[in-house]
Amino acid sequence: SIVLMNGEFIPREEAKVDIEDRGYQFGDGIYEVIRVYNGKMFTATQHLERLQTSGEKININITYTVQNLTVLLEELIHRNSLHTGIIYMQFTRGESPRNHAYPIETVPPTFVAYTKELERPVTSLENGVSSITVEDIRWSRCDIKSLNLLGNVMAKQKAVEADCYESIQYRELTVTEGSSSNIWIVKDEVVQTHEANSFILNGITRRKIVDVCQRREITIKEKAFSIEELIDADEVFLSSTTAEVMPIVAINNVPVGSGEVGIITRKLQNYFKEEIFVECGE
Ligand code: PLP
Repeated sequence: SIVLMNGEFIPREEAKVDIEDRGYQFGDGIYEVIRVYNGKMFTATQHLERLQTSGEKININITYTVQNLTVLLEELIHRNSLHTGIIYMQFTRGESPRNHAYPIETVPPTFVAYTKELERPVTSLENGVSSITVEDIRWSRCDIKSLNLLGNVMAKQKAVEADCYESIQYRELTVTEGSSSNIWIVKDEVVQTHEANSFILNGITRRKIVDVCQRREITIKEKAFSIEELIDADEVFLSSTTAEVMPIVAINNVPVGSGEVGIITRKLQNYFKEEIFVECGE
């Protein structure tokens, strides 16, 4: 396959990173995952703008504009003949002799992007998935889409060991988000998710769902909810770029509501599919 490295298209085997790259040593970098449907990127501008914002928050200077990146990523899709899948991309603070502080001289960031074929998770979308609750042990800047994912990695591993799809994290008694997703509840036909502050990543899928709810006159509340409200919800789902609107039908081995995929969750899945169709076609 062909990857994009520091602006050049090269075979994957030729893409090499130095042992003193700050991404490798410190997780000092940021990333994005963009969905590709029908050979076209979905919500690319929102992802690339979030990438810029993440960069600004930790002073990594992304020297490409959203427009430049879009052109490069379209070319990457084309060179890999990608139909359904994802683009993964990251920028690190670059190569520099190991030292916690940022390098003084201007070191260019290391930029890598590559594609991967990935089908829509249709069976899970149809039947729903199970989850567990775990304590959120991460730092307090979860709004940055940082390469430092150890807390998320540990949370996901717990889910896998419990034979579950996702871990739902909580701080004190408040639900924050999944290990790689945002978490939603539906109670008495009101849709609710954690407000976009520094304790969660403001998902692009999350923003799309908020937008869809507002346009379709579904009541939406961006406000943190408790573990108790989670357990007591009529419906629960998660959202992410790869998983879209994914029903959660069990939490800690206890069925959510009736144990079936909820009516509003199903509606949102269908509305979401329409959004994909509008932007990417069939
Ligand atoms: N929260 C975390 C911690 C994530 O890693 C992700 C990414 O998948 C999300 C939320 C969902 O964000 P998005 O919808 O932009 O993929």
